[in-house]
Amino acid sequence: MLNLKMYINGKWCGSSNKAVRNVINPANGEVIAQAAEGTIEDANAAIKAARKAFDSGIWSELSAAERAKYLYKIADKLERQFEELVDMEVMNNGKTRGEAEFDMEDAVACFRYYAGLITKPSGETYDVPDPNIQSMVVREPVGVTGLVVPWNFPMLMSVWKIAPALAAGNTLVFKPAEVTPITAKKLFEIMEQVGIPAGVANMVLGEGGVIGQAIAESHEVDAISFTGSTQTGRKIMQAATGNLKKISLELGGKSPNIIFEDVNLEVAVDQALFGIFFGAGQVCSAGSRILVQEGIYDRFVERFVERTKNIKVGPGNEDGVEMGAIVSEKQMHNVLNYIKIGKEEGAVLRTGGKRIMDSGLEKGFFIEPTVFTDVTQDMRIVQEEIFGPVVTIQKFKDEEEALELANDVEFGLAGGVFTNDGARALRVIKRIRAGITWINTYHPTFVEAPWGGYKQSGIGRSLGTYGLEEFQEIKQININLNVGPVDWFK
Ligand code: NAD
Repeated sequence: MLNLKMYINGKWCGSSNKAVRNVINPANGEVIAQAAEGTIEDANAAIKAARKAFDSGIWSELSAAERAKYLYKIADKLERQFEELVDMEVMNNGKTRGEAEFDMEDAVACFRYYAGLITKPSGETYDVPDPNIQSMVVREPVGVTGLVVPWNFPMLMSVWKIAPALAAGNTLVFKPAEVTPITAKKLFEIMEQVGIPAGVANMVLGEGGVIGQAIAESHEVDAISFTGSTQTGRKIMQAATGNLKKISLELGGKSPNIIFEDVNLEVAVDQALFGIFFGAGQVCSAGSRILVQEGIYDRFVERFVERTKNIKVGPGNEDGVEMGAIVSEKQMHNVLNYIKIGKEEGAVLRTGGKRIMDSGLEKGFFIEPTVFTDVTQDMRIVQEEIFGPVVTIQKFKDEEEALELANDVEFGLAGGVFTNDGARALRVIKRIRAGITWINTYHPTFVEAPWGGYKQSGIGRSLGTYGLEEFQEIKQININLNVGPVDWFK
């Protein structure tokens, strides 16, 4: 059994009150690790260590090239431990091997991307109206950063924050989700092995409402970068007001996938299946609302349901499995509750709808991929994020109606459109109020391009150059080229 400790000020330690939490394999309900359950005192110790490390300049005052070397070394080690990390992610999160492999490849790419980016030219000079003044801008680290992540991409969400935070010269206090701390612990071991100085990167394990809240409230933390639900995002924003820390929030979604009748039906069905059932629907950008034009609606639904029934659900490490487990018993019950709500609201359940209680899967947390049709826009299963393998399919007449339905939710994370009419594709995408969009594809994500939402899906952007800026302050410097008196006061 794995024993997971916290990493504070360069040392591995248990909880200050000795508490531990069982970590479960969602594919069979077995306990796979015991993790230290941190306290407020532990969170404060990590914050203090990060503060001291930042103020000492031990990391922020290294040259960008030197910091980049550490990031490249982390990427190399992640790559060397690829298979082990994939196994761990599958075991802890329940996802399939293919999904976990994608995550690890992206994690390696993210460290390399920020290692490269931080050494590239940055800052600007300004030609201001006073010829005696040279004005310029430099970018500096924000300071101590708090990084709080969810359980759906345990390694990847951690890396999307840790890589740019370190590249920019910050120190950090990181908290993984309660149920998925295993690969994060591995990442901190790697950071220790490559020699990241003590206090620069700290990890505290434990309850969000305790550890996450303490990080968000602390006046010693200069910025918080959070990924998780919109509900928790609100709490973080409130907690951050005490010292007006910089915040970035990557929150929930209820993203539309709009399919016009001029498409190749088989291709559109295939893409839409991937859009919702990849990661068992536990993906913030999932295409959880499929909107189909009336001319192909019936055929689309028939084919979509047929293919959904054929999805092979099971333990992520088994050959041929296409959809894994739900991450925890609690999340499984959340999803089942939404399925119940959908039925009560009068939606038509076309397939799925139950926990899988046979084929040897009864000890794990598996839900059949589920399709609802005949929904109305006001139903909770259309408006609220379910975060599981549940999709609604709606019919629309024309472009106007598609957009009206697409935008009529409080979220604005992602959206897709499928059509062979190029002008229409762009017209529709431009009117979707969302930060991540796709034309004739769904889900491709690249570390080079910014990631984040409109409306209640968040504030700020991860990844790309924008993701680095979330971890930087901007300073203007004005230099007098001809020093003399101002002669303002006579
Ligand atoms: P969650 O909000 O319950 O938890 C996320 C993290 O916040 C966890 O580490 C948790 O311990 C912590 N937390 C909980 N309460 C807190 C508090 N009061 N103060 C500080 N931290 C607290 O979300 P989840 O269930 O772990 O993840 C699923 C959610 O994450 C979904 O809504 C999904 O859409 C979202 N998500 C968004 C993105 C994105 O990029 N926009 C990516 C992945 C997941």
